[in-house]
Amino acid sequence: MIAQTSKAFFHALARSRTLKRLASRYGMRHPGSFARRFIVGEDVDEALGAARAIQASGLMLTLDQLGESVASMAEADAATRGYLGVIDRIVASGIERNISLKLTQLGLSVDRATSVDNLRRILDAASPHQFFVRVDMEDSPVTQVTLEVFETMWQQGYRNAGIALQSYLPRSVADARRMNALGARVRIVKGAYKEPKEVAHQDKADVDAAFVEITKRLLADGNYPAIATHDPAMIDATKAFAAERGIAKEKYEFQMLYGIRRDLQNQLKADGYRVRVYVPFGREWFPYFMRRLGERPANVGFVIKGILRDR
Ligand SMILES: Cc1cc2nc3c(=O)[nH]c(=O)nc-3n(C[C@H](O)[C@H](O)[C@H](O)COP(=O)(O)OP(=O)(O)OC[C@H]3O[C@@H](n4cnc5c(N)ncnc54)[C@H](O)[C@@H]3O)c2cc1C
Repeated sequence: MIAQTSKAFFHALARSRTLKRLASRYGMRHPGSFARRFIVGEDVDEALGAARAIQASGLMLTLDQLGESVASMAEADAATRGYLGVIDRIVASGIERNISLKLTQLGLSVDRATSVDNLRRILDAASPHQFFVRVDMEDSPVTQVTLEVFETMWQQGYRNAGIALQSYLPRSVADARRMNALGARVRIVKGAYKEPKEVAHQDKADVDAAFVEITKRLLADGNYPAIATHDPAMIDATKAFAAERGIAKEKYEFQMLYGIRRDLQNQLKADGYRVRVYVPFGREWFPYFMRRLGERPANVGFVIKGILRDR
């Protein structure tokens, strides 16, 4: 319940233009500015630098050029061209070829057909270089259409892509089953958006139980699932089920967000598990940043400290 209230509060704040202006002014100014706790930087050079360091430490990574809910096809085209540039830079840099993106960044809420074309442009550029492209899952008004676009691409033979599913949506149990039948790679997450009770579990216990249920389904019947969580209970349930079924550590991976539970990331790596870090960068960092605050209100403390220090 507290989690829901906190999410609602931060999602409301995320719509404040004043706050966005203030955060944008202070959040990324210096190497120690507060937004850098979760976002590696605003430009691709900073992202590649951070990615190299993560890779050198033995962790895997996926790069996310932040952006979502664009309001015009011109913005969607700019985001698509941005990703094409990032693909070139990743190839030239020699870091791992793995990116994550959001369909509303490519114009899904403006014109579905054009967003599909934009996704195809990215997949076509990524495929010859053996990239993996993960389609993040956004809020519930676009769940169905996101899955439809993903499945359309899959049917058209794009196999270098995977999808994310959210355990707070009861529908995800059936979606996981369908993705398993397709052979598509799934990232399971709890879900980061404020959703109404008509479509999403509201109690943490229900979200967690669904997470474990879907994780088991993905481990048993899926294709190299990604278990994306910082919750030790979810991680322990994953390890226990995999051990019970004799599922090797190479058959799945854990994923965590940049800046969160680095200790756990390193511990899992040291124990021989595969761990991928989600590395976000870009100028459009504010909504992503606010979701991270909503997940853990204690994070507000370091933001306030950072603003007071930088003023
Ligand atoms: C790799 C990755 C990709 C993701 N992709 C998506 C996506 O496509 N769509 C989507 O809706 N959501 C996505 N998420 C976010 C996810 O839905 C959750 O909101 C987020 O991971 C927090 O849930 P949790 O599983 O860590 O469990 P929780 O029960 O929320 O947290 C468990 C513990 O993790 C730590 N923790 C969690 N969040 C924070 C934080 N913000 N700051 C500091 N500590 C924290 C705390 O120690 C907390 O006690 C993704 C998460 C990861 C790790």
